[in-house]
Amino acid sequence: MKLTVIGCSGSGPGPKSAASCYLVEHDGFRLLLDLGNGSFGTLQAIADPDTVDAVFLSHLHADHCLDVAPFVVWHRYSGRSSGRQIPLYAPDGAAERLALAYDGADADLTDVFDFTAVTPGDLTIGPFEAETVRTAHPVECHAVRLTAGNRSLVYTGDTGPSQRVVDLARGADVMLAEAAHPPGPDLPGGLHLTGREAGEHAAAAGVGRLLLTHVPAWVDEIGQLFAASAVFSETELVRSGATYEI
Ligand SMILES: [Zn+2]
Ligand SMILES: [Zn+2]
Repeated sequence: MKLTVIGCSGSGPGPKSAASCYLVEHDGFRLLLDLGNGSFGTLQAIADPDTVDAVFLSHLHADHCLDVAPFVVWHRYSGRSSGRQIPLYAPDGAAERLALAYDGADADLTDVFDFTAVTPGDLTIGPFEAETVRTAHPVECHAVRLTAGNRSLVYTGDTGPSQRVVDLARGADVMLAEAAHPPGPDLPGGLHLTGREAGEHAAAAGVGRLLLTHVPAWVDEIGQLFAASAVFSETELVRSGATYEI
């Protein structure tokens, strides 16, 4: 399994990266996890959009889904699309939410996407066995564990501290975890992880490696890395364009 970071800026695009988007490949199959703002531009530098076989949206916050709109424009008007319908997995209501982002309530995106509503549980996406759980976030958000070729990657999506996410990640080779909250008192619950909490989740789950992501542009990313590394040493901060063999 190969992971390529397309966008990793938390809560919106930043000066060094687009918002959340990750390309996961196995056996020639290409799955995108999230399509946050700005990510479709970076994607084109890394992969031909027509080679994307499926899209999984963790949730429908703008920084995880808004570049579905340029993805649709490209497929309709570039003259480079093969015209096949792309499976899109997302929380219930995605077709309506993404139609509004694209144009208006009457917009129909089903010429480009075949929508499937995700619920907690198991599903198969190409060569990947996928398991999802609901995270601790103000809107419906799913963390996902992808397994293929005996290797496993867990992507937390957006989440506050969550035992369900720890259980999902148990023994995974790689945990790609958000760390959006800087340390501090009076942090709102059920929203995001601090760097330390991301490290604690990785340690509790016994994963092989922790990849920190979704640090907002206004948060000290090295501080997040140090805080996570203090409790889980096999930690690194991801960058746009970085690749990982899992
Ligand atoms: Zn987010
Ligand atoms: Zn969110």
